[in-house]
Amino acid sequence: MTAVLDYLERQREAMLRDLREFVERESPSTDKARADAFARFLAGRAEHLTGGEVKVVSQDDWGDHLLLRVGGGEDPSILLVGHYDTVWPAGTLGSMPFRLEGECAYGPGVFDMKCGLVQGLWAIRALHETGREHPPLVFLINSDEEMGSPSSRGLIEAEARRAAACLILEPSFHGALKTARKGVGIFSLRVTGRASHAGSEPFEGVSAIEEICRQTLDLHAQTNPRTGTTVNVGVIAGGTRANVVAAEARAEIDLRVASRAEAERMTALILGLRPHHPEARVQVEGGMNRPPMERTPQVVRLFAHARELARDLGFELEEAAVGGGSDGNFCATVNPAVVDGLGAVGDGAHALHEHVLIPHMAPRAALVARLLETVVEVVR
Ligand SMILES: [Zn+2]
Repeated sequence: MTAVLDYLERQREAMLRDLREFVERESPSTDKARADAFARFLAGRAEHLTGGEVKVVSQDDWGDHLLLRVGGGEDPSILLVGHYDTVWPAGTLGSMPFRLEGECAYGPGVFDMKCGLVQGLWAIRALHETGREHPPLVFLINSDEEMGSPSSRGLIEAEARRAAACLILEPSFHGALKTARKGVGIFSLRVTGRASHAGSEPFEGVSAIEEICRQTLDLHAQTNPRTGTTVNVGVIAGGTRANVVAAEARAEIDLRVASRAEAERMTALILGLRPHHPEARVQVEGGMNRPPMERTPQVVRLFAHARELARDLGFELEEAAVGGGSDGNFCATVNPAVVDGLGAVGDGAHALHEHVLIPHMAPRAALVARLLETVVEVVR
């Protein structure tokens, strides 16, 4: 039972070397040249570590996606999911270099989620190196997760539909697995009023700013801590001069919901906004980007199983419901057996203090390895 963990503990330096190299090869979502260069490097490294075969899925606008297949046969495969893109622009390493400090490794994208990629690849290697078996698996690594996966969503759903279970290597939540994720909606609101002189003809105008403020209050009133629904108008812009009644205003809206039913209700509500002022015009565009990942009975079973495996490996595993979406949400639309947050332990995703805790790397990779060995039986 601990052979896999012992092997991985002995590989700590090698895993850290990979982590350093993954972080030091910057791969921002919006930089196709750098993303493709990372994908080429990763394809080689993944094949070397796992003995599998990588198919490069070329993209015109985004970085190329990778499909690593390990093992063949007729059995349904396990889908591992991760992304190599980061939110950090090229050159971030200058001010935020990869560095080790105590038990932490810092750097852009280290937690979200290059460490998860390292742990996933080493989990597969550990099984081979210790003479253990696993069902065929597909490790999908995409380039555009941080942008909402515009070019990889179809690929993710197709692979998830075929899979026995989906294991998502996104960062953990302070060590906890993510067994529910809210759905994310993105909307933009445009209000058109009528300009007039604020001093000489104040009542001739229709203020788009006043209208958008009322709309904002209505939208924020939909936030409900009990159901988990939140609405945030995160950007407002409008108007031209202090002495002009504003003719135009716009807002950007973020919606989070815990269930599909609530997603439908709120989408209809937001798309159906009506102006308060009879002469104002309100236009809304947008919709759900990622549907919610709900805590299905299969998810509950998978988590209970993972917790048992973790105990055998010597650590306690918790679960958490989180507000952020990931590609786990897309998997969940077509396959109820999804567990997310199997990647790094650390903190500071998308923040300057982004880091992972090095002592957790081997145990987490061992957990993934043990799941690969056993998960198909659990969801059958
Ligand atoms: Zn991520």
